[in-house]
Amino acid sequence: MIIGFIGLGIMGRPMAKNLIRAGYQLVVYDKFAKFEDLITLGAEGAASNRELASKSDVIITMLPNSPHVKEAVLGPEGVIEGVKSGAVLVDMSSIAPAVSREVGAALKERGVSFLDAPVSGGEPKAVDGTLAIMAGGDKAVFERVKPVLEKMGSSVTLVGDTGSGNITKLANQIIVALNIAAVSEAFVLAAKAGVNPESVFAAIKGGLAGSTVMNAKIPMILEGNFNPGFRIELHIKDLQNALDTAHEMGVPVPLTASVMETLQSLKTDGFAGKDHDAIIRFYEKLAKIEVRRQDVP
Ligand code: NAD
Repeated sequence: MIIGFIGLGIMGRPMAKNLIRAGYQLVVYDKFAKFEDLITLGAEGAASNRELASKSDVIITMLPNSPHVKEAVLGPEGVIEGVKSGAVLVDMSSIAPAVSREVGAALKERGVSFLDAPVSGGEPKAVDGTLAIMAGGDKAVFERVKPVLEKMGSSVTLVGDTGSGNITKLANQIIVALNIAAVSEAFVLAAKAGVNPESVFAAIKGGLAGSTVMNAKIPMILEGNFNPGFRIELHIKDLQNALDTAHEMGVPVPLTASVMETLQSLKTDGFAGKDHDAIIRFYEKLAKIEVRRQDVP
């Protein structure tokens, strides 16, 4: 089985490396990023998405957003121009579920199967091969590519039909954004009241308020570390997809809308490229206090 991997950015590059280490034969392509390191590891380079597709049995895409996936798959020199009938395309990007369905339908007409299979876990888990992968599509297709997905993730779950993977990812991104905002608001209150934030963290992390988000983000915030990680601009993209998808279905999402405005404010303040833990900077600015490690005597 030859695997074509398109999109060798923060996430795609380590994911492709894990597939090479697992012994798969890879063809790789990225429109902007260089990929000599992967060729050194044994991958074959392609000159376009079309050429990559013509050589691959399974094609994986890991691209920023819906327009990039549409361009790479359906656009000029795209996958659809070269793909073999009977191949499978697994789009692991986080995109609008409606676009997943559109791309899946176009590929189906060419005899190509499609799964949307976005991931959660960020760069560290992409490197470790321990991503959480949420897939939408046909069960038989899912079973066919599951061994490949298991080389990139420690949890690989089929959640429903095409588009369900990205619906699940939108739910994930709403929960993460709102959780960071809630943790931020609460810790700013504690800090302004003069209570050591490290003590607050120690006291509540094992209780009902504790969360994976709190465990990951509070230590970073205490150190003043806002390096990405997951950039604010990518979370804006995900929440925009969440708002659009929700509104198309008549689902009001008031808390998501509120946090979206927080993210927009941070973007205006120059934080678009910072980690989403910088959401606390919005609350710190309002209350004129910083939640940082204190030197306790
Ligand atoms: P990235 O911007 O680092 O990488 C995307 C790559 O796609 C780039 O190298 C770019 O050159 C390439 N590309 C763009 N258009 C292309 C085209 N038409 N043909 C070929 N290549 C093209 O992004 P990333 O951080 O790796 O994220 C990828 C996806 O994974 C996004 O949807 C993101 O939301 C999601 N995601 C990211 C993280 C994270 O922590 N970074 C975590 C979970 C999910």
